[in-house]
Amino acid sequence: MNEIKIFSPGTVANVSCGFDVMGFCLDNVGDEMVIRKIDQKGIRISKIEGFDLPYEVDKNVAGISALAMYEALNLDFGFEIEIYKKIKPGSGIGSSAASAVGSVFGMNELLNRPFNKTELTEFAMKGEAFISKSEHADNIGPAIFGGFILAKSVSPLQILEIPSPIDLYATIIHPQIEIKTADARALLPKEVSLQDAIKQWANLGGLVHGLHTGDYEVIKSSLQDVIVEPHRSKLIPHFNHVKKAALNAGALGSGISGSGPSIFSLSKGQETALNVKDAIEKIYSKTGIDFDIHVSKINTQGIKILN
Ligand code: ADP
Repeated sequence: MNEIKIFSPGTVANVSCGFDVMGFCLDNVGDEMVIRKIDQKGIRISKIEGFDLPYEVDKNVAGISALAMYEALNLDFGFEIEIYKKIKPGSGIGSSAASAVGSVFGMNELLNRPFNKTELTEFAMKGEAFISKSEHADNIGPAIFGGFILAKSVSPLQILEIPSPIDLYATIIHPQIEIKTADARALLPKEVSLQDAIKQWANLGGLVHGLHTGDYEVIKSSLQDVIVEPHRSKLIPHFNHVKKAALNAGALGSGISGSGPSIFSLSKGQETALNVKDAIEKIYSKTGIDFDIHVSKINTQGIKILN
C-alpha cells in the first residue's frame, strides 16, 4: 500500500470540569487527508483545500508532527500529505489536532504500524505544541484513541481511556467568530481558591465515575466548571443564553469546547440532542452571527481509514 485516505475527527477538549486533561471525539465532524509514500526523501505538503494554511512543513502542524515521526525513523523514501480541511482553524473543536494526528496516523499505517497509539500521540503533540507553545493531549488523545480520554500526565505521557455510555450524544455550535487561544489563556486566573478546587476535582471524579457506570444523573451533576468558564464565557456572545436553552431542552450539561468559541452540550439520546440543537439554533439565528451546528454520537473509534 502506497497511499491512504483517512478521516481525522474533530474533538472537544476540557469538557467543563476537565480543563487541560479531558477530551472526547466527534463522529461526523472532521477533516479528510491523503498520505502517500514518495521516492524523494523527507515530508512535503502537496495540497490544502478548505482553508488557507501554510504549505511549509515546519509551519503546518501536519508537517511538524510528520517530521517528528520521520526523524525517529531511518527511511530511504518520503511522504506527501494532502489536507482537505473541514474544521475551521481556531474553532475550538481541534482543527490543528486533526491535522497533527492525521499525518502521523497515515504514515504509521503505510509503515505497518511501528508505533503504538501513545507514541503517535507524542509525535502529534509536537505539532500542537508549535501552535499553543505547550504540549497538551486533550484534543490529540481523543482523536487517536476515540471516545473520552483523560490525559493524566504529559511527561511521561499517560492517556487513560474512559468508556462512554452508548446513548451519549453531543451538540456543538460553532459561532463564526475568532477567539485567539492566547487571549482565552490570558483571561485565566493565576490562582484558584481551595473551595473552587475542591468543587472542580469532585466534579471531574464524578464525571469519570458517571461515564464508567453509565450514570446519567452523576454525569449531569458533574458537568460544571467553576474555575475556567466564568472567565472565558465572556468572550463568547450569548454563551449564558445558549447554555440555559440547552439545559431547558434536556441537555445533561453544556460548556465551552476547548478555548471556544464553540459550545458543546451532552445529552442522553439523539432525540434530546436534536431538541438541544433546535433550541440553540432558535437563539443564535436571531443574533446575526453566522454559525454551524452539529449533532454527533461520541466517536469511540477515533481516527479511521476511508479506503
Ligand atoms: P483549534 O482548536 O481549532 O485547533 P488553535 O488556535 O489551537 O485552534 O489552532 C489554530 C492555529 O493553528 C491557526 O493559527 C492555524 O493557522 C494554525 N495551523 C497550522 N497548521 C494547521 C493545520 N494543519 N490545521 C489547522 N490549523 C493549523
